[in-house]
Amino acid sequence: MLAQRLPSILPPLDARELLDVSMIASIAGELRGGQISDRRPFRAPHHSASMAALVGGGVRVRPGEVSLAHNGVLFLDELPEFQPQALDSLRQPLESGETMIARANARVVYPARFQLVAAMNPCKCGLAGTPGHTCRRGDKCAADYQGRVSGPFLDRIDIRIDVPAVSASDMIGSKPGEASTMVAGRVARARDIQRRRYAGHGLDAVRTNADAPAHLIEEIVAPDAESSALLLKAAEAFSLSARAYHRVLKVARTLADLEGGDTVARPHIAEALSYRIAMAGH
Ligand SMILES: [Zn+2]
Repeated sequence: MLAQRLPSILPPLDARELLDVSMIASIAGELRGGQISDRRPFRAPHHSASMAALVGGGVRVRPGEVSLAHNGVLFLDELPEFQPQALDSLRQPLESGETMIARANARVVYPARFQLVAAMNPCKCGLAGTPGHTCRRGDKCAADYQGRVSGPFLDRIDIRIDVPAVSASDMIGSKPGEASTMVAGRVARARDIQRRRYAGHGLDAVRTNADAPAHLIEEIVAPDAESSALLLKAAEAFSLSARAYHRVLKVARTLADLEGGDTVARPHIAEALSYRIAMAGH
């Protein structure tokens, strides 16, 4: 439900993005009745989806889910149930923002810059880590299930959140949360800060911290002594890859942008780190 609501807090597509999205939908034969919406795309392929269905291809080359989710959200529910080969095929588009389909006599490149959201149970029976529950297969239950998602794939996921089961007492008398329109306003302001930041560096094509080149994000975040010490400690304790390191900086910069702050401080770095290393059953 949270993933499905994500497009409602994202800024509407601008004219250029809208053009890309409708062209891809048109090529894929998914432009139903010529309806065009400025809502960001939300795609949720089933876990039985083939590699071709995800990244594109097939006998008649057509864009895959990663391209249909361009400028929007790709949601993979029950992540470990996807074929490992299909998941690994997502690594290239996650890195480059496009997907290349090679044929004997041709090469087709489709844009594929999307926000990946995935959900998974902590183990096959779904209850590992729940107080009072013991898996029939012991600790192996969670380890085996989570092991189906490869390390390099997981390394590309910046925010990991453990979502405990909702109890009846949580639902009774719960106060309404913040409205989506309020959150959307905050997101729009943060996106605006980011767009202007990268335009200021002469990079009009870069619109979010996520898309910023590694060297530039280092320069922009410029961690102070306190933050650097924390980063170094975490990098050693959790053997963070270079990619992970830069991604922590990007998340920290985004947290500061959401607050409207100029500088990235230690709490932002600490929060960004906590999202990367949290994983139920570990
Ligand atoms: Zn289990």
